[in-house]
Amino acid sequence: MSEPKHPPAAPSATGWETVGTSVQGRPIRALTVGRGARKVLFIGGIHGDEPEGSVTTTELPAAFEAAGLAESVTLTILEDANPDGRAVGARGNAKGVDVNRNFPAKNFDTADPSSGGQPASEPEARAIIQTVDRIGPALILVAHSWAGRQFINFDGPAREIAERFSEASGLLVEESSSFAPTPGSLGSYFGRDRGIAVLTIEVLKGSDPRAVWDRLRPALLRVIGG
Ligand SMILES: [Zn+2]
Repeated sequence: MSEPKHPPAAPSATGWETVGTSVQGRPIRALTVGRGARKVLFIGGIHGDEPEGSVTTTELPAAFEAAGLAESVTLTILEDANPDGRAVGARGNAKGVDVNRNFPAKNFDTADPSSGGQPASEPEARAIIQTVDRIGPALILVAHSWAGRQFINFDGPAREIAERFSEASGLLVEESSSFAPTPGSLGSYFGRDRGIAVLTIEVLKGSDPRAVWDRLRPALLRVIGG
């Protein structure tokens, strides 16, 4: 007797893939769900001491499917761009470089050692660049946290998207140049230099990741849907 075959029901998720490797050799993983023409990238974290987006990263694929977005959107979820930092609760990677200052933006700061010295010197930044170049997203969302307050920050052609996110989440909109210089940041490079809409989601540092997901879910699905 041959083994009965149980082919899986065709899922829209294609499974986790490794899109890069950290300084210490940890995999940087991404999951793609949906098959629509609109391409969106969600990055679950880039600063290792900001784990508040972790539940959101886990829950988003099922919520995306349940919201009926799979036919109109292809969503790539990059689980964690800085797994070495996350492992020890540090902002930077294993070399102490702030991955979010290591992008080859026009405003890259070669003088600040925490920027890495050279643009895209770090494998974590290169994994993000290669992923963006491969999928060509119309929108990039990145999960962060901020001590003392929470807000939506945007770069590139994303003001209207940020305002819709704000309406659905209650987080206020702040233009990135208004509160802090961010040389070599993901937003500087993809948003300002390359003209891709970038939303930086700054939730209250120390928030319960489950509460963050509950609050952000409607806003995320709204802007991912376009
Ligand atoms: Zn951050």
